[in-house]
Formats: sequence, structure tokens, C-alpha cells
Amino acid sequence: MNIKESIEDLRRKIRRYDYEYYVKAQPTISDFEYDQLIKKLEKLEQQYPEYITPDSPTQRVSGEPTKEFPSVIHRYPMLSLSNTYSAQDFIEFDRRTKSALKSDAHVEYVAELKIDGVAVSLSYEQGRFVQGATRGDGIRGDDITINLRTIRSIPLKIIEGKKIPSRFEVRGEVFMPKKSFEEINKKRAEQEDSLFANPRNAAAGTLKLQDARLVAERHLEMFAYYFFTEEDSFLNPTHVQNLELLKRLGFNVNPHFKVCPDIGAVLEYVREWEEKRSSLPYEIDGVVVKVNDLQQQKILGNTAKSPRWAIAFKFKAEQAETRINAVVWQVGRTGILTPVAELEPVKLAGTTVSRATLHNPDEIARKDIRQGDFVFIEKGGDIIPKVVAVNLSRRDTALQPLKIPTHCPVCATKLVRIEDEVALRCPNVECPEQIIRRIEHFASRNAMDIEGLGIALVELLVKKGFLKNVADIYSLKAEQIAELERMGEKSADNLIKAIEASKKQSLDRLIFGLGIPYIGVTAAKILDRTFQSMEALQQADMDRLQEINGIGEKMALSIVDFFRDERNRQIIDRLKEYGIRMESTGLESKQTLQGLTFVLTGTLPTYSRKQAQELIETHGGRVSSSVSSKTDYVLAGDNPGSKLFKARQLGVKVIDEKSFLDMLGS
Ligand code: NAD
Repeated sequence: MNIKESIEDLRRKIRRYDYEYYVKAQPTISDFEYDQLIKKLEKLEQQYPEYITPDSPTQRVSGEPTKEFPSVIHRYPMLSLSNTYSAQDFIEFDRRTKSALKSDAHVEYVAELKIDGVAVSLSYEQGRFVQGATRGDGIRGDDITINLRTIRSIPLKIIEGKKIPSRFEVRGEVFMPKKSFEEINKKRAEQEDSLFANPRNAAAGTLKLQDARLVAERHLEMFAYYFFTEEDSFLNPTHVQNLELLKRLGFNVNPHFKVCPDIGAVLEYVREWEEKRSSLPYEIDGVVVKVNDLQQQKILGNTAKSPRWAIAFKFKAEQAETRINAVVWQVGRTGILTPVAELEPVKLAGTTVSRATLHNPDEIARKDIRQGDFVFIEKGGDIIPKVVAVNLSRRDTALQPLKIPTHCPVCATKLVRIEDEVALRCPNVECPEQIIRRIEHFASRNAMDIEGLGIALVELLVKKGFLKNVADIYSLKAEQIAELERMGEKSADNLIKAIEASKKQSLDRLIFGLGIPYIGVTAAKILDRTFQSMEALQQADMDRLQEINGIGEKMALSIVDFFRDERNRQIIDRLKEYGIRMESTGLESKQTLQGLTFVLTGTLPTYSRKQAQELIETHGGRVSSSVSSKTDYVLAGDNPGSKLFKARQLGVKVIDEKSFLDMLGS
């Protein structure tokens, strides 16, 4: 590869990582690795400036506005920050700053915690919060005012009696405290929804929601760190005075900022917080240092991507080192084997860790993990931490590569590897461990919620031969249960009552409880609403399933496969015979919108966009994202976008929420 090709190749990679990080909110490499790629590109571009292009990731703010929200042009561009992981670069930043100002200039810095969240800008007019936006590409962001209004640390109105400019802008970081993040991921894990990789990811995902009520439930907070106005009498000479002003106006300013007379003091602050970071109730990923004097900031100016008067010192993710005592292979309810490392207990970011996931055989081979190795572990979004690397300098030469099992550790069936999947799978659906896990899942809180039927009891019942599949639960007799260890007549009676009561559970719980791979609580709810009966769901083909918003190809395939299996169909028939509810408990759907295509634009008075879409779909209609001659109706609310204009151009009928509800007959 020649230089030009290497540069292009690097840019392609970075753009892919940007897409995964900013759009899909599912990063596939660590921030550190990403930042190394950017550094490499910067270096090459410095050496070969003839290849610099304005669209290079080094020349612009990454990220872009989404299509779900109206966009806002920022009054002042929202830039990123240049960053470093080394003290040397910090000293170089100090030298550069001073020489750009004047060699004898005195430069004072303000060091702040770098909050790991999402940058937002808030506009105030006459003391009222009027608009809030994300950074987007730095020039245009998303108007997320309704979501930001739910965050309690954002004042909707400035405290009475304060003298304030008639118009000003505040910038800051919206973040999710660690506690809320852990609670949300725990709940998502229980519901088999995908997990957020970190609190920043969770905050970004939440701000993109179309339903402000859900945003309000997620407990986001905000720290303010910039204040802008054009009114002379409010122009402060320093950044710190702006922070103090923000506090007086009622904004939440992080209390840990520090004025530093020189770069040495900044470095001390960095070291102090690298040590103490896990004691904070929110995540920080470094320290931001800013030139305090706003006049000096003006002289230094910005590049296209970041201000020259600030830099971020980034911390690497917190790690701990410990030893792998053993590796066990766990069999899940779908037969997938997960290797789990049992660790010498160690403290990591405030908790004691004794297990870590090794993901799959490919990951074990890639990292060359062996039993007895000393390894570095890190916390991610998963409840269980991951092993990042082996400390080879401490490896005992006698250690052998891990043996990857060829047969199921529970039922001894030969394992298989499914095409496109890295995981090993036990193909025996009768494998006792899979049976136990499937029944446990069926009875669990988010599924049929059968109180008293926990894993220990399920294990006993399977071992006794009383349970072979989920339908058998309904043929259990009180006498059978009563004779089990630690089960008296009373607890047997209670269990039978709980089993009986579960027959009335809603259809979505039953769908989730069946344990169809990739179908979590949310997908099960969508299927319930869309099909309204088990029978209709069973008959749906790939095309029909993929038409549904929220059901992807992988899910659709999994559903079709599941119902194609004779054994599953028999189980469902038996459940039906036992009287388990097979119809939706929701409104009887009248397919009043059958065959009609809708496009949504603007904010409706009562329904969120997602709710309106669901209403249309449950009534047999379709929602499309763009207006064309095939569109039957454009459903428009307040502040409609260009779709309304297009509808008028094409002569498509435009209706408001009231006429829409009339169409539904409600
Ligand atoms: P950044 O997060 O490194 O720094 C800039 C941001 O810091 C600002 O926009 C602001 O949101 C935030 N910030 C927090 N506290 C602040 C404070 N006190 N003062 C001022 N700003 C503060 O930069 P970015 O442009 O938001 O994101 C780029 C970074 O994202 C990369 O350096 C990389 O680490 C990461 N990234 C990772 C991947 C990946 O695949 N892992 C991909 C793209 C980007």
C-alpha cells in the first residue's frame, strides 16, 4: 500500500468506527484503540499535508444529526476536544499555548473533570429554556428540547430576581449516574434486551428516544460548563467567573473544578482524579484543561475540530489484574456454551469481582488465555466483567492452551458450530441443562411469573423426571411436589395455585417465555400487539415478520425456525389444551387502516411518534419514513418538517391527530 492508500484505508476504518459509535451506539473497539488510529492518521497527514482533505476525520467533528429529530443550526459551532493519554503531550500543549500567545505570557488554567456523557447546548430567552440540541456534526445538531425538559438539573426558568441577559446559551454534559446505569442494564438483562456498553452510551441512547416519558424515567442529569452571551454587561473576563455565574443562575456545575497557576498543578490534579475516579457516583473519562482567560482563548482560536485553548487528558479504562483459577463452560437455554473464568477475587472500580466472561472459543484463542494465567480485567456494560488481555510476563511456562470442549459437559452430545456464529452450541434440545434453563426462563418474573418455581426446584423436578418441557408444568400434581425435599403440602398447594394463576398471563409474556432466540420482552410485546394471537404469530412468514418495525431479519428467521419445529408446535398445542391464554388481552384490533400508508411529521399533541406508529400498525396500516405518491396520509403535528411541504407538493392528504383518531373509530 502506498502512503495515499494507507491514509484512505485508515480513514475508512475510522469512519466505520464512528458509525458504530455515534449512529449505532455499539462501539466495537475501545476508545484508546480508536484514539491511537486518529493519532496515526494525524501523523501521516502532518508528514504528507498534500493528502489532507476537508472531510478527513482529523478535520471535522465526528457524529451527525439523526433523521428522527428536526435539526438545529448551532449559533456557535459545538467543537470536540483534542485529547492525549500522556503527560508529555500536556507539557507540549502548555508550550504551544504560551508561544502562540507570547513567550512571556502568563497562562492560568482551569482543570475540570471530563464527564463521560453527551454534550448539549441549551438556549435561554427572557430567562426561559427555549431550545436544546445535541452536538451532531458540530454545525447542525438534533433538536431534543422535549427530552431535555425532563432533566431536573436543567432549569426551565431562571430563578426570579436574577439579573440576566435577555438571551444566552449554556453548554454542558448530560450523563447517566452509575447507579441508574446499573439498574437499567440489570433490568434490560432480565428482559433479554441488548445492554448499553457504558453510561455514555446509555445517555446518548436515552436522549434519542422519541417518547419523553421514557426519558424522564431514566434519571439523566447535567453538569453545565460553558456560558455564552453577546450582551456586553454580562461578558466575564474568565472561564471560572462564567462557572460561578452558571451556579448563581441555578445550573448544576461540577464542584471539583480547580484553577491551576501552571501545567504542573494541572498534572497533579490529573493524578489525583485518576486515583479517585471510582469514588464518584458518575463516570469520568479524563480531565479537561482550559485556558482561564477568555481574551487569551479568543487569540488562540479554534481549528475546524477543536479549540486550541483546551485539551483533554484521557484516562484508560479502569483495569485490575488477577489470576484465572478455573474455566467452566456454561450451557444456556438455547444450547450456547459460554466459557466463564473463575477468578481470584479482586477489587475493580468499587466492587469485588470473582468471575469474568471469556465470550467464546475464538476470543480465547485470540487472546491466548490459559487456566492459571494472570489477566487484566475491565468492566463493560455487562453485569459480568471481561478479560482484556493476559499478562504474559507472569505466565508460568508449564501452562497449556485451554482445551475447547468437543462434547457438551452436561449431556455429552457432540457440539456444533453454526455458520456465521462464533459460539459453540449443544444441538441436543433434550439436554437436561437446556431443559432446566428453558423451564426456569418460562417461569421467570418477566415471563409467566410463577412464584416459587425457581431454578433449584426446576432442577429437582427435571431430575425426578416430572418436567421435560414447559407444558409439563401444567400437569404437575400437588402430591408429586409435596414429596420433594424441603417441600411440604402447603408449599405444594401454593405452587399449584401459582401455576394455575399463570394461565391468565398476557400473550406477550407467553411469547417471551417460550424462549425463542433473540426475542426479548420488547420484541414479544411488539409481536403480541401486531398479531394479537398465538395462531396468527405461528402463521406469519418471513416477509410479514420483517415488515414490522422493531423485528429484524435475525429475529424473523428465529421465529419462523421456532414454529417450524414440530416439538415446539406440540408444546404450544398442549399449552392451549391446558387453558393458557393464547389471545391478546389488548384492544380487539379493528383493522380499520388496512392497506393504508402513513408518514409522520412534527410533534403530536398527545401521542409520541412511537405510539402513533404502533397504533397505525396494530390497526393494519403501515408507516413509511418518506413521502411519495404512494403515501395515503401524512399525519402532522406541531413543527412539522419538510415532509409536510413534500405532501403538499404531491397532493397527499394531510391530517391532524384528531382526524387520525376519528379514522381509528376511537
Ligand atoms: P471527547 O469525548 O473525547 O471530548 C469532547 C467532549 O468532552 C465534549 O464534546 C464534551 O461532550 C465532553 N466533556 C465532558 N466534560 C467536559 C468538560 N468539563 N468541558 C468540556 N467538555 C467536556 O470527544 P468526542 O468528539 O465527543 O468523541 C470523540 C471520542 O469518542 C474519541 O476520542 C474516542 O475516544 C471516542 N470514540 C470512540 C469510538 C470507538 O469506536 N470506540 C468511535 C468514535 C469515537
